[in-house]
Amino acid sequence: MIDCYGVFGNPIKHSLSPIIHTQFAEQTGLNIQYDKILAPIDDFVHSAKSFIDQGAKGFNITVPFKIEAFNLATKLSLNAKTAGAVNTIKVNGNELIGENTDGIGLVNDLTKNLSINLNNKTILILGAGGATRGILLPLLKQIPKRLMIANRTASRAEQLALDFSSHGKTCGFGLDKIKDTPVDVIINATSASLDGKMPTIANGVANGAICYDLMYGMQTPFMDWAKANNAKMIVDGLGMLVEQAAAAFEFWTGKQPNTQEVIKNLRG
Ligand code: NDP
Repeated sequence: MIDCYGVFGNPIKHSLSPIIHTQFAEQTGLNIQYDKILAPIDDFVHSAKSFIDQGAKGFNITVPFKIEAFNLATKLSLNAKTAGAVNTIKVNGNELIGENTDGIGLVNDLTKNLSINLNNKTILILGAGGATRGILLPLLKQIPKRLMIANRTASRAEQLALDFSSHGKTCGFGLDKIKDTPVDVIINATSASLDGKMPTIANGVANGAICYDLMYGMQTPFMDWAKANNAKMIVDGLGMLVEQAAAAFEFWTGKQPNTQEVIKNLRG
């Protein structure tokens, strides 16, 4: 018997998730099928329900359906609740359990794959969109010294910092308020790289910092900026992608795959 999983998105053609989950299944000896599913922009719920009716055990959700998946879930993990978005659903009888593994994926890539200790570090996140909301709680669980959120629209950063202030030391401001002094870790969670752009910010903040771009599959303008400004380490988001998939795989199957092997294969 084969267990069916999949990923919903629009567009979905370029998703690496089927390759990743197929490798996880081979490693753990499970017989699964994992498909890319293009849901109509205005009809995610119908597509998801029909997949569930066909006997699916679970599925991932990517842009632009993570909020609709949050609303579809009948039960939510704490990560999903605080993120306000769901990227993984487990079908458990009539129950649809919503989880958000994006933040766990980022933290596992930083701490396990890259051996970076986030405890007592100063972290600067650029951007205050859905991805930032998803990574905040797992990052704050590492107990950084200070977590700063800087965004083009300052009010969104200020609001996010306020929303998460009960979980740790947060502050939010506009990109123009970033100081010209180094921090330990900078995470680019803006979508500016998609347009080939890097927001203009104080250059000194990158000096000696670990610079992590959530984007993957290309050398981004943020990575170029980090290099030009003496960053200590420059990383793209491929490891996060594999780690968030691994957390979903474990949530569904109880099996923990070997992520480093898959990251190595994908980097070729
Ligand atoms: P959203 O659309 O929710 O948010 C976009 C953010 O980028 C906003 O804060 C926006 O600022 C900011 N922004 C956009 N353009 C610019 C610009 N030119 N200059 C400065 N800021 C800008 O996107 P998401 O949060 O969902 O995704 C962000 C990125 O993270 C994407 O590139 C996505 O691919 C990546 N990602 C990677 C994952 C992985 O597994 N590696 C997982 C999830 C996301 P404003 O509020 O002012 O509009």
